[in-house]
Amino acid sequence: MPEQVTLIAVSKTKSPEEIMQAYEAGQRDFGENKIQELVWKQEELPQDIRWHMIGHVQRNKVKYMASFVHLIHGVDSLKLLREINKQGAKHNRVITCLLQVHIAEEESKFGLDETELMALLKNLPGESLENIAIIGLMGMATFTDDQEQLAAEFKYLSDLKTRLASEYPELKELSMGMSGDYQLAVKYGSTMVRIGSSIFGSRK
Ligand SMILES: *Cc1c(COP(=O)(O)O)cnc(C)c1O
Repeated sequence: MPEQVTLIAVSKTKSPEEIMQAYEAGQRDFGENKIQELVWKQEELPQDIRWHMIGHVQRNKVKYMASFVHLIHGVDSLKLLREINKQGAKHNRVITCLLQVHIAEEESKFGLDETELMALLKNLPGESLENIAIIGLMGMATFTDDQEQLAAEFKYLSDLKTRLASEYPELKELSMGMSGDYQLAVKYGSTMVRIGSSIFGSRK
């Protein structure tokens, strides 16, 4: 893994003991996709863990993680950003976020299309959201073994970031790649890979 790529150990469904094994090996960035699970693990485990929320976020649950969450990956609406900002303000902190872009072929996955992303970015300056910082883009590729398709989806997100770079230089991070496809994702410029089963074994 290149040095500038952050490895996020996706610990959903895994026990505190399993997480501690990775922690003791030096891992500090962990990802969860359910707020409840994120919250109890944060309470139970060492306080220097950087917790990433990688799943879909419901607005009414932002408050539970606002005091500690390190990075929220799956932000896909202005309404959600406003809520994160509000909760960030309550805790006197700036919460970092990624905007999730829909890159997969499947309909069911969350995320913005390019038009929606552009509209959201254009609207931001008028919102004065001082307790959030948007630092990049996140994408989930199609669930497939087709390397050409995966490459095309990663390249699309990477090119989108490049196209946005002059106007939005703060969008530096690219969260893409999971156990099955992270090498390809890194090849296309991923700066954060979210890896679960390759670290912890498969989930039940
Ligand atoms: C579960 C999950 C992962 C990790 O998947 P693996 O295939 O186990 O590496 C990555 N990203 C998101 C958003 C997930 O929900």
